[in-house]
Amino acid sequence: MWRHKRAWWRGVLDELDPVERNRWETEAGTLILVPMIGKSHFLGGLAGVNKIGGGDFTQQDLNLLSLFAGQVSIAIENAIAFEELSKTKHTAEAYQTELRQLNSELTAINRELEHLSLYDQLTQLPNRSLLHDRLQQALFLAQREESRLAVLIVDLDHFKEVNDTLGHDVGDQLLVQVAERFSGQLRETDTVGRLGGDEFAVLIPNADAELACHLAGNLLAVLEPDFDIDGTRFSVAASVGIAVFPQHGMDASTLMKHADIAMYTAKRTRFGYAVYDAAEAVAQPERLSLVGDLRQALVNREFDLYFQAKVDLRSGMLHGVEALARWPHAKRGMVSPDHFIPMLEQTGLIRPFTLWVIERGLLQCARWEESGIHLTVAINVSIHSLLDPQFPAQVVSLLQRLPTSQSCLVMEITESVFLSEHAKVSSVLNELRGLGIAFSIDDFGTGHSSLSRLKKLPVSELKSDRSFVMDMETDRDDAIIVKSTIDLAHNLGIAVIAEGVENASTLNMLREMGCDHAQGYYINRPLSADDFAGYLQNTEWTIPRGK
Ligand code: C2E
Ligand code: MG
Ligand code: MG
Repeated sequence: MWRHKRAWWRGVLDELDPVERNRWETEAGTLILVPMIGKSHFLGGLAGVNKIGGGDFTQQDLNLLSLFAGQVSIAIENAIAFEELSKTKHTAEAYQTELRQLNSELTAINRELEHLSLYDQLTQLPNRSLLHDRLQQALFLAQREESRLAVLIVDLDHFKEVNDTLGHDVGDQLLVQVAERFSGQLRETDTVGRLGGDEFAVLIPNADAELACHLAGNLLAVLEPDFDIDGTRFSVAASVGIAVFPQHGMDASTLMKHADIAMYTAKRTRFGYAVYDAAEAVAQPERLSLVGDLRQALVNREFDLYFQAKVDLRSGMLHGVEALARWPHAKRGMVSPDHFIPMLEQTGLIRPFTLWVIERGLLQCARWEESGIHLTVAINVSIHSLLDPQFPAQVVSLLQRLPTSQSCLVMEITESVFLSEHAKVSSVLNELRGLGIAFSIDDFGTGHSSLSRLKKLPVSELKSDRSFVMDMETDRDDAIIVKSTIDLAHNLGIAVIAEGVENASTLNMLREMGCDHAQGYYINRPLSADDFAGYLQNTEWTIPRGK
């Protein structure tokens, strides 16, 4: 009967063939049938049998049952759909878990990539590009809130020497430790990052120049305790350049550029930190073109040597000179060695330059000797030359070529020798010492010193830095530093010279303190060879004449 798939009731029996109809009439009694047809399936049917109270089912009964069947069909279809859905849901959930896992792996990789592109891998500090971003955000905020913002660029002093002499591993570890010390100094709102090499930058929201200077002082102070890397102890100083929004620049690049310029000023003045000064910055583009001119100047021997007397405070004898390089530049006039010596060092030209200075110094010495005057000549020798294993042999060949006695040569070296690999430098120094060359530690008190190394190096003189000597009359601390340097040198059995003596009272004070030698404008300003010859004629200091 279901195969007809339509509602059935007694009245439809007429449509059946006589045999079938008979069977229904006798066996099934009164009956209605309604098929249930779903959207995609034949679901079965509903049957009504033996109507209560007897009698036949009517068309109306059939309609009622059809309605009911319709609803049951929907219910069944829903149930089927629900089951199918829950099956798919199950697979979907499995997919989802897998997807979730893939997603989290992707996020981790992304995070790693982001870290790689935004953080410095050595120190884990933000790198240049993240710093730039943060600076831009901070600037945006500062503009909106009309507040200030300071940018500090910190560059380690003599880092290249640490790298060259103690090796890159030590250099790397030093950078990591410096980064840790800097991070410990800052507030949560500040950002410290590494720009590359030995250069760091610090962003300080809500800071004016004064606060920035204070923080720069803190950063420098935190470097003061010795670093200990694999058992080697040494100290490292830094120079900090400061630029403040809005007065030193309105955008990120300008502020960074100006902080960088200030950092160079800090390096040059050796004051530790410097705030950007627009007037000084005008000289900066010149810096670049000067580097270009330097090479040419070296080839053309455009440099000159000036001489400044060194006198013995006890005997009144003018016993030697310091040779100070000068660069008379065709367009710029006299360029200060404070400008071009660092450039020579950066470009590696300092080595041939130093040999030229030694040659010129020795020639001058020979000339004085010819006229019966015995003066020592002190040459400033950069650490780059002392680390050059060929340097002693080159000096020997100069000494052999020129008609001078070796004992007239003094080399002024700075305290950076204490930073350098001891064995390497001390073997070069000993080799040179063996040639009769004396050593003086220049600018003593401004850099890194190690007493134990000082004792082991063949040094015959400490030169108290002019920054202490110049103010020692008025500044008690400076006077104490000079006096301590004198005592220290004497305890080590070596002489002391004070540079930067500008007046008679400083000279007397030094004499009373027991200082051995002096040098400075009060005695004479650095003079060209010709002018110095005139000075020697007229000076009241005793000239060591012989022969
Ligand atoms: P330095 O070796 O410490 O030289 C002393 C500096 O102090 C010289 O500056 C000298 O002119 C200056 N000075 C001397 N007496 C006085 C004084 O009474 N008052 C003041 N205010 N200054 C005084 P200069 O000639 O400008 O040289 C600066 C630095 O440049 C030198 O400092 C030295 O580190 C470097 N330098 C100069 N010539 C050479 C060179 O041939 N080779 C190397 N490697 N460095 C050199
Ligand atoms: Mg010197
Ligand atoms: Mg000096």
